[in-house]
Amino acid sequence: MKYDVTVIGSGPGGYVAAIRATQLGFKTAIIEKYNSLGGTCLNVGCIPSKALLDSSEHYHNAEKTFKTHGIELDNLKVNLTQMMKRKTEVVSQTVEGINFLMKKNKIDVYTGVGSFVDKNTINITPREGGDTQQITSDKVIIATGSKPVVIPPTKYDKKRVITSTEALKLEEVPKTMAVIGGGVIGLELGSVYARLGTKVTVIEYMPSLIPTMDVTLGRELGKVLRKQGMKCLFKHEVVNAETVGDEVVIKAKNPKGKEVEIKADYCLVSVGRKPYTEGLGLENIGVKLDDRGRIEVNGDLETSVSGIYAIGDVVKGAMLAHKAEEEGVFVAEKIAGQKPHINYLLIPGVVYTWPEVAGVGHTEQELKEQGRKFKSGSFPFRASGRARASMDIDGLIKVLADAETDEILGVHMIGPRAADMIAEAVVAMEYRASAEDISRMSHAHPTFTEAIKEACLAATDNRAIHI
Ligand code: FAD
Ligand code: NAD
Repeated sequence: MKYDVTVIGSGPGGYVAAIRATQLGFKTAIIEKYNSLGGTCLNVGCIPSKALLDSSEHYHNAEKTFKTHGIELDNLKVNLTQMMKRKTEVVSQTVEGINFLMKKNKIDVYTGVGSFVDKNTINITPREGGDTQQITSDKVIIATGSKPVVIPPTKYDKKRVITSTEALKLEEVPKTMAVIGGGVIGLELGSVYARLGTKVTVIEYMPSLIPTMDVTLGRELGKVLRKQGMKCLFKHEVVNAETVGDEVVIKAKNPKGKEVEIKADYCLVSVGRKPYTEGLGLENIGVKLDDRGRIEVNGDLETSVSGIYAIGDVVKGAMLAHKAEEEGVFVAEKIAGQKPHINYLLIPGVVYTWPEVAGVGHTEQELKEQGRKFKSGSFPFRASGRARASMDIDGLIKVLADAETDEILGVHMIGPRAADMIAEAVVAMEYRASAEDISRMSHAHPTFTEAIKEACLAATDNRAIHI
């Protein structure tokens, strides 16, 4: 078969690129190694983790806050088998949705490992044996994603020393869990089990949690998670982690260089992800990788070989589903000769702990490094009537604005529904709003979004009303 556009990988980057390509009139194929479409995000990432986060949050509230709301329950218990079953159903339904979209858009789906023979010819080899098929394509979009990093001191055995993939399908609620890496995955999946009763210890190399986000967020999140029972060890370097009998023994160096030992039923290794390019046959066509193993691309997301593009986790930038989607649309439109644009500064980052954490634009530390003069205004949720009504008073919203022009440069929040609220900041910043612009817009009362307006008021002239 001959195609105009072929996409390798069916994650949020790949399947979105394929849909946009067909919308633009291209005869399109998508190749996926596994039987299930949707990539990391749908199968072992965003969707299953959020399903478990929601379930565990219900349990946590039933146990911790219902009584205060005047709701009393007897014999509350966790049925982990049912919780996992629901998660699996959510994943299957979402994957089914992608199958539907492929059919609706008349995209040919090939199952097998896609590998370049030359720049226009791709072999598709089924993982579990069977005949290799060959297709040709005018343009190719590589969207093969990423996989977990496993650092050498950890003896990854998939049973007790695990990554997110296994943590999403444990068959028991562990009594104890060590989490190596206090980033997004560690804190989200650590929260799932902590809410179900597991004693979670986070071992982080840096001096704070989520160190790439605004400094205030890591500090505030640390306080809340500790209050929820999570233990955090900072500036600790893991030197060994291996299963011994029915537990994992972790050895780490504390900030004083002294070795400490932590024992846990499970050890989740969540120290980042790395681009996945194995089996693609890139060496056959000379596609270049950078020093971190990512496919090198130019501003058009085209690789070192013309007509071959790469998007999502396999290229530089944030490893986020919505970033991959934007790039999928961008490349399809580039191929069609359009002039698309992505504002990478305005790709929001979210951590689905509770309270949720979200940020967009520049962090305070970045602005300081750049020597840019800025003003900062913040508003705590404990001063919000809506937050008191829902018992979600932890956290705050911080707005950073240019000292002279008042243009919003960054918005960082930790609090209820921050994941959804950050969209207001993205819209405002895309239109280059000033803090005063937001502070003069009506926000419905009582809503959590009033805290954004109040933080903007605090940033303009320290004139927040409710603090
Ligand atoms: P992927 O989704 O990784 O898809 C790549 C696909 O390519 C895979 O299906 C793979 O099998 C296939 N493939 C690889 N090589 C070949 C080949 N040679 N031939 C054929 N197919 C191939 N991001 C968010 O924005 N929000 C979240 O809430 C979030 N939660 C996450 C939770 C977890 C536990 C994890 C692990 C990740 C999470 N992420 C989240 C990150 C998100 O999943 C990724 O950023 C996103 O999936 C990247 O999309 P992609 O299309 O680049 O690649
Ligand atoms: P991460 O980069 O978010 O966090 C890794 C953490 O591990 C960092 O805090 C880092 O300092 C720490 N670390 C690194 N090496 C260490 C070591 N040797 N010892 C102790 N700590 C160490 O990575 P992740 O949590 O594995 O997530 C991977 C990717 O998946 C991220 O890029 C993230 O964007 C994406 N993701 C996103 C979401 C979301 O959007 N909600 C959820 C999950 C994953």
